[in-house]
This record gives sequence, C-alpha cells and structure tokens, in this order.
Amino acid sequence: MPAAHTACMTATPYADFHARSLAERDAFWAEQARRIDWHVPPQQICDTSRPPFARWFVGGTTNLCHNAVDRHAARRPGDPALIWVSTETGQEKVYGFAELQAEVEAFAAMLLAQGVGEGDRVLIYMPMIPEAAFAMLACARIGAIHSVVFGGFASSSLASRIEDATPKLVISADAGSRVGKRIAYKPLLDEAITLSAHKPAAVLMVDRGLVAFERVAGRDLDYAELRRQHAGARVPCAWLESNSISYTLYTSGTTGKPKGVQRDVGGYAVALATSMDWIFGGKPGETFFSTSDIGWVVGHSYIVYGPLIAGMATLMYEGTPVNPDAAVLWRLVEQYRVTVMFSAPTAVRVLKKHDAALLKRHDLSSLRALFLAGEPLDEPTARWIAEGLGVPIIDNYWQTETGWPLLTVAHHISGVQAVPTRLGSPGVPMYGYDVRLLDEQTGEELTAPNQKGVLAIAHPLPPGALQTVWGDDARFVNTYWKSVPGREVYSTFDWGLRDADGYTFILGRTDDVINVAGHRLGTREIEECISAHAAVAEVAVVGVADALKGQVALAFAVLRDPGLASPALEAEVLKHVDARLGAVARPSRVLFVSVLPKTRSGKLLRRALQAVAEGRDPGDLTTLDDPGALAQVRALLGMSN
Ligand code: ATP
Ligand code: MG
Repeated sequence: MPAAHTACMTATPYADFHARSLAERDAFWAEQARRIDWHVPPQQICDTSRPPFARWFVGGTTNLCHNAVDRHAARRPGDPALIWVSTETGQEKVYGFAELQAEVEAFAAMLLAQGVGEGDRVLIYMPMIPEAAFAMLACARIGAIHSVVFGGFASSSLASRIEDATPKLVISADAGSRVGKRIAYKPLLDEAITLSAHKPAAVLMVDRGLVAFERVAGRDLDYAELRRQHAGARVPCAWLESNSISYTLYTSGTTGKPKGVQRDVGGYAVALATSMDWIFGGKPGETFFSTSDIGWVVGHSYIVYGPLIAGMATLMYEGTPVNPDAAVLWRLVEQYRVTVMFSAPTAVRVLKKHDAALLKRHDLSSLRALFLAGEPLDEPTARWIAEGLGVPIIDNYWQTETGWPLLTVAHHISGVQAVPTRLGSPGVPMYGYDVRLLDEQTGEELTAPNQKGVLAIAHPLPPGALQTVWGDDARFVNTYWKSVPGREVYSTFDWGLRDADGYTFILGRTDDVINVAGHRLGTREIEECISAHAAVAEVAVVGVADALKGQVALAFAVLRDPGLASPALEAEVLKHVDARLGAVARPSRVLFVSVLPKTRSGKLLRRALQAVAEGRDPGDLTTLDDPGALAQVRALLGMSN
C-alpha cells in the first residue's frame, strides 16, 4: 500500500500531537470548540485562575440538546437518531431526529409545567426505555440538572442519592426487566422517598404496563396523560453559559461511598464531539451501539450525548448479551448496520462462556471496531473476542470523573499517525490529558520505563471532566487533589506502569496493591496470570493480612467447567503462577466459586472480598449485584456471616 505508506511518513507522530494539545492548550481547544454550535462564542478558552478548578469556554453559551438533536433534525429530520430494542418485551422502535425532537420538546413542556426550570434537579430512575433518553435531553434542553440513578438500585441507595441531589421532580417507570423477570421500580422508589429527608414535589411515572403500581395522590403524575396534553409543544433550547451544570452522576462505588460527579455543558459537548471523531471514528448517518446502561457514565457519554452530538443513530438496548441467545448483540449489529460498538470486558467474559461460533452467525461487515472499557481487559479475553469478531478490539481507560477516555489509541486523527494497539494496555494518554505517573510515597515523577506508580493528571483537567463533587468543593479538592504527597495533582487512584514505548498498563486500584514481604504487586498482575490458565473463566485476587509476610494474595476463581474444581486443579493453578510471576506472587489459596461479587455496573468488588477474608465488615454494599456471591465466600472460608 504505497499511498498509506507515504501518508504515514508525512503524518505527525501522535506524541507530538499530544504534546501540542498541552503546550498550545487554548489554541487546540478553540479549534475543537468549532465542532459544536454556540449561541454566543466563548470569550475565554480556559480559566485556570482558581486551581484545581478549571472553567472551559467561559462566556460561551450553548445547549447539549441543541447540539445532540435540533441541529441534526434541521438538516436530516428523517434520519434515524434513537433506535430502541428491548429483547425483554420484544419491542423495537426507530425515532428519526425530528421525531426525537418532538418527543423531547413535549417532555420539556411537561417539566416546565411542573415548575422545573434552569438549575433545578431532576432525578431519573428508569429502565432502558426511550423515555429515559427523552427525559435526559429534555432536562438538557431547559437547563435542568439531571441525576440518573441506575434503575433497580435498592431503596436505600436510591434514598441517599435523592437526599444528595435534592430533586424537585423524580421520573420513573413501573418496572424494569431482566431475563424476563420484572423488577418493580415503584415500591423501591416509594420506600426511598419515605427514607429520604428530602421529598420531591412530584413523581412522573411512565407506565409500561409491566407491573401494577399504586399512585400517590397529589404527587404522582402520569406520563401518557401529560404527553397527550403537551404533544406538539414547542420549547426552545435555553442558551446556557458553558460552565452551567448539565448533570450529576454517582461513581460506581467500587472502592467506597459513591461520589457525585458534577459536569458542565460546553466543555462536555466539545469533549464528546472530539472523541466521537478522533477516538471512535463515528460518522453522521452511521449507527453507534453501546451495551452500557444510562445509569453509568458510558451511558451518558456514549449512549445518549456523544453519538447524537456526532449526528449518529444510537442503539439503546434493554436486554442482556445472552438472551434469547448469546448471538443477540451480533444480530443487532447486522440488523441496524452498527459501525462502532462499545461494551465492557465483563460482557465479553459472559459471552466467552458460550460457543465462539455464535460470534460468526451474523453479518458483521458493517462493524469497524469494538471498544471495551470499565475494567482491565485481560489478554485471553481480548484475543478470544478479536479472533471471533475479526475487528479491532480497542481498550479504553477512563472514569466517571473524566467523562471520556483518558488512555486509548486514537486511530482517527487526520494527519496524525495511528497508535497501534498493544495487548494488555489501553494505550497512551489522550490529547488534553497531562498524565503523570507518580511515586505513591514521595510524589516524585516516574519517567524511567516499567516503574510502578499512581496514575495522576496535572491541572487543568481537560474539557468534559468533572467540575467538582456536587455540593462539596472541599471533597473534590481533598479527595482527588491532595492524595499524592507534595503535589497538587488529580489522582485516578489507579496504579499503573508505563513501558519504554509510552504504553500505560493499569495494574489495579491503589487500594488493591498487595505488599508481600516488601514486594508491591498489583492484583491485576496476578489475576491476569491466573486467567490465562485454560480452566479459568474469571478470577479475583485480593491481599489478605498475614502475620509473617504482611500480606498474602488470595484468589477466587470461577471455572469454565465448575465440575473440575479439585485440590489438584488448585495446586496446578498455583504452580502456573509460580512459573510465570515467581513464588512471591503465589496466592495462599485459590478458592473456586460459582460467582464473584460485582457492582451493578459489573466491576469486581475486591474490597468486599478482602474484608470478608479478613473477617471485617465489608462496609457499604449497596452497589453489590448479587449478595449470594459473598455468602458463598463466607461459607468457603468457614465463617458464619
Ligand atoms: P468508585 O470510584 O465509586 O470506587 P469506580 O471507580 O468503579 O467506583 P467508575 O468511574 O465507574 O467507578 O470506574 C472507573 C474505574 O474503572 C477506573 O478508575 C479504573 O479503576 C477502572 N477502569 C475503567 N476502564 C478501565 C480499563 N480500560 N482498564 C482498567 N481499568 C479500567
Ligand atoms: Mg473511581
């Protein structure tokens, strides 16, 4: 390919491009700001006068809903915008941009009629139905602050979020559904409101007709009825100063009490528009499919706002990857000609328990890449899905706080050399992120290859990242910016290593580092090694206090074939670790379990495993998906409760 070769020779190396994004920060982001519509253009690109706070595109006024919906509806009214598929109820529906705009305007009119205005909070506790996206976009349209809480969270988790967000209005539905099992939301919501000190003035209920529910007179409103009243309403977009608050969203709660991340309007819109092009390579008219949920940051950035801002159709899916069968995701890719897909390693590990031939059953010729994020992507899982699908698998590392990828490989920046993927690493720092690797104890910057340290970001965080912790600037400053000694940098609380070519490897969370007889090991290193054993489907490793060595590693493994669990297999897995990482990394035991404790977003809850193994109280378990997972561990360790 001589042409491509020539292009490569003249293209800027990515490292130079990244360096320019920092050195010429304001010029760089001023160019990117042109990707969105502004009512009033920004007066200042970045205000860094009050570190660690940063304000992007100061004085500019814009609107997320205008950029996601109206501007496309004006030019391409009939093009698909929102594709909704529920394998739970057997429904599929496609909304064009104009149709989406009409739904959002009617919804916005309902909110206004309830007295909801700019700066008011609206809590959204909903299943994956189109009305959830309408609700988010309607809030964005009128400048109300949405706070989406993952549907089906228990009432105590919901209550604490209602108290923190103090919403004027709550939007909910009768029920969600998971593999045919209906989960009634209304009793959970009613109980949460009873528990909460803050009482919302109104509850807007979408009745899907799945589960009967009781209405509280004077408080509960019916969506279908209000929609009839407000059909055809015109509600103009509110032009909001760039630093107005668009939403708050809680982190997954993997390490402790969830933090209420607060996001702006203009910086977020620009960051998403840029990432849709440069990182995801998505083009207007194409279809983006993220398997996440609107309750998580991936759902905010890459189900609702990002694809729509880019003029793409977004596929919103209510269902699991294995129902009615493990080919359902690929059936959707074929049917809707999905070009870019986004999922999580945990979903791929679920598929891995099924026949790989299912990956080949459908026509995947439209699909260009599968992006995975949320947890470390182990090499065996990455290989399995890459071989099965025959498209590039692109790991990307980020957080609720950052709003968009911090480490990945950015394949689509014109004039800039693509960074090849490297198994085991999400990639290199993205433009705009001044990423540093720091010694946890001294705060010193680690520049030599293969040193282990805390992954941090220097001030200012790029557009799209959190502004602060909702209602708690002190927590923002003290939690994120004061944890590395002697430096005011943003800590990701993840532990990493950078190789000689600049690829960063995530070794685990700083809480999960194990110190065995003075050797510091990331849980990820040991997990990666054990998961490479052919018998193992999934594994979690934690450090457990040990009188002699300080800490020892303890492993919990799910086998591909649970029938194979035996002392001989445990010995074999231990030998496997010895041979690859050395005896220092060898876990004291490998315990075989049928399920690992995970958060509702599919992340391993190592802190809970560790606490149980050390006989401590596991703390806040409100985000735990399946309580049975911990009961099993307690039983295995011979503990009562
Ligand atoms: P909390 O902050 O409440 O403890 P959380 O950190 O799990 O919860 P999220 O913001 O959903 O909440 O997750 C971000 C974290 O997920 C990252 O800090 C990192 O630990 C992990 N993560 C995300 N993507 C990747 C990836 N590609 N590789 C490795 N780890 C990842
Ligand atoms: Mg976190």
